[in-house]
Amino acid sequence: MNRTESILVTGGAGYIGSHTAVSLEKAGFRVILLDNLCNSDISAIEGIRSLVDYDVPFYQVDCRDKESLGDVFQSELENGTPITGVIHFAALKAVGESVEKPDLYKDNNIGGTRVLLEVMKEKGVSKLVFSSSCTVYGEPENVPVNESSPILPAVSPYGFTKQECERLIQDHTKRVTKQTFQSVLLRYFNPIGAHPSSVIGESPKGVPNNLVPYICKSAAGLSKPLIVFGTDYPTPDGSCVRDYLHIMDLAEAHVSAINFLFDKSQINRPFCRAFNLGTGVGTSVLEVIKAFEKVNGVSVPHVLGGRRSGDVVSIWSESLRAKSELGWYTKRSLEESLKDAWNWQKKFI
Ligand code: NAD
Ligand code: UDP
Repeated sequence: MNRTESILVTGGAGYIGSHTAVSLEKAGFRVILLDNLCNSDISAIEGIRSLVDYDVPFYQVDCRDKESLGDVFQSELENGTPITGVIHFAALKAVGESVEKPDLYKDNNIGGTRVLLEVMKEKGVSKLVFSSSCTVYGEPENVPVNESSPILPAVSPYGFTKQECERLIQDHTKRVTKQTFQSVLLRYFNPIGAHPSSVIGESPKGVPNNLVPYICKSAAGLSKPLIVFGTDYPTPDGSCVRDYLHIMDLAEAHVSAINFLFDKSQINRPFCRAFNLGTGVGTSVLEVIKAFEKVNGVSVPHVLGGRRSGDVVSIWSESLRAKSELGWYTKRSLEESLKDAWNWQKKFI
């Protein structure tokens, strides 16, 4: 297997990072995991290792800790496996929490990205994939959104941190002239589901903020009934509309993005390219609940509630650029995603 490229995965114990690590390993890349475990658990690292049958290195480090981050690059260099690319997942991601704690979000998400870029510059590493979000489009006037859609004012402090990080990376790409800095901004829509083995999945600490993990807990009787945040929105059934994609489709998009960065034809030209990653289909909160109940044969206790601060009304993706330039598109259905999400949850009942 080709293990010439070593990819640092920050936030590697988290939901998207752990699934991506497995897909990268399967595609022949060497993976180095880094996480401060503020929203994840060491069991995710063990899950990754068991799925790839390889003792993937893990560093418990905070991205804002410049010295420790530099040490990770240094020790991998001394091991003879220098880091050649980075996928930067590490961030706080709860929209509602970001409204309550905007400074924490700015410090962690923007601060962590700034330190990472400094360390990458010092260590001469020039390929970066950044976990961005459709939240950078703010409250879009037209849907679906594509990469040319306007970046409107952020609806939440979390969204603001993603816009700022994109700007930092774009500036870095222009400013760093000694290296040819090449970066990809992946604007995810709503990843859901779990690895089909159910060895890894989504395990946020505390009460889940995201819809599908909450649906799972509610269906399992492990939480209070789900609150549908808002049923008076200008959408067909009054609840918010999102673009839900299977986590394994999203994980595979990162392999495509890393291949894109390492593709020989891209060499010697600095660039920062954004890609939307979604299915192209919008689904409402109430439709997701119904689909979950139907595919899994369980009921989801839920109540209709008020709007959640910081929520966009409707957004879904046009992902034509990802298809034409990365060769990536979603292959799994909403039903498959909801089935895999429930299979994962059932392990904890
Ligand atoms: P997650 O919380 O499961 O994973 C993030 C990981 O980063 C966690 O394991 C956490 O412990 C770690 N982390 C946070 N701050 C850190 C820091 N300063 N230093 C080191 N580790 C740190 O979240 P996720 O869903 O896997 O999201 C990954 C990335 O994708 C985030 O940047 C998020 O903003 C972005 N994103 C997620 C979604 C989504 O719906 N899940 C959508 C769009 C974008
Ligand atoms: N949502 C909900 N109840 C919950 C969690 C989420 O109704 O307990 C709604 C939320 O208001 C949004 C959609 O589900 O309309 C998706 O929310 P999530 O937090 O999963 O992702 P976001 O799109 O906010 O990043």
